[in-house]
Amino acid sequence: MNILNPYAQKGTWLRGSFHNHTTNSDGWFPLETVYKMYGGYDFLGISDHDKITKHEGKRDIPTVFEAIEVSSRETHMLLVQPPHAIMDNYSNDFTIENYQRFVDRTNDNGGFAVLVHPNRYFSNYWKLEDMIKMDRYLGVEVYNGDGNPEYDIAFDKWDALLSAGRRVWGFGNDDSHVYGQEKRAWNVVQAQDNTNEAVLAAIKDGNFYVSTGYGFDAIRTEGDTIVADLRSNDLLDKMYKYVTFFGKDGEALQETTGRISQAKYACRGDEGYVRIAVYLEGGYAAFSQPLFIGQDA
Ligand SMILES: [Zn+2]
Ligand SMILES: [Zn+2]
Repeated sequence: MNILNPYAQKGTWLRGSFHNHTTNSDGWFPLETVYKMYGGYDFLGISDHDKITKHEGKRDIPTVFEAIEVSSRETHMLLVQPPHAIMDNYSNDFTIENYQRFVDRTNDNGGFAVLVHPNRYFSNYWKLEDMIKMDRYLGVEVYNGDGNPEYDIAFDKWDALLSAGRRVWGFGNDDSHVYGQEKRAWNVVQAQDNTNEAVLAAIKDGNFYVSTGYGFDAIRTEGDTIVADLRSNDLLDKMYKYVTFFGKDGEALQETTGRISQAKYACRGDEGYVRIAVYLEGGYAAFSQPLFIGQDA
């Protein structure tokens, strides 16, 4: 059985977020305050609306990314490491052609694109049919920390895209604008080094997971079995865990609970993909990328 495990390449786990605002758009805080809000992060992207904020001034965060949130009235899209030339004759008009051009130019510049908060139904909303029409974007924001579970999660659309054969990764970002929105959701990346190049390479490979506080020590395979080593220490090992393995169409393939530090799933071979969600007592969670199973993996 072929299992494509994006976590196979070992490295150092780094924490960061790509989608955050400053007073350069509608954020409440200037860049230097945002750097302080994210003290302790290994990397940080600043993504103001329709504008590339330049990184400058004092900061303790080792690695920073330029980004932009292309913000039409209909949909929003995050570009990480876009070329500055996109600002010439810039338009945020939502057409597939315009948005696709942003994706392609950002990819050509070594960056990547993410379709963000796709379920924000009252505005800035991605219809699944448009997500299918778009191509070559790296992922979907499955957890937006803006703070409303009625529209800031998008596991349904992620499963729909994956089930349609699209290989897109799930991202978690704060989308922080105001006080109290920082450090709600982030990405934990297994990279070779804490450099822009290494973080980008790991993200493109899907070697990261989304966290709201809990995590994985490793996700690996033993033959046809997927093994999730949950983050473990003396305290965490005493706490109850809820682990779900999801497959095609969001089917819950297996649930494993208990005061465990590991969960295993034996693949049948026809799952298409398997992704893992784990909740720690208290509500802290981690969401893995899909492992692709089968012929084409
Ligand atoms: Zn937005
Ligand atoms: Zn935003």
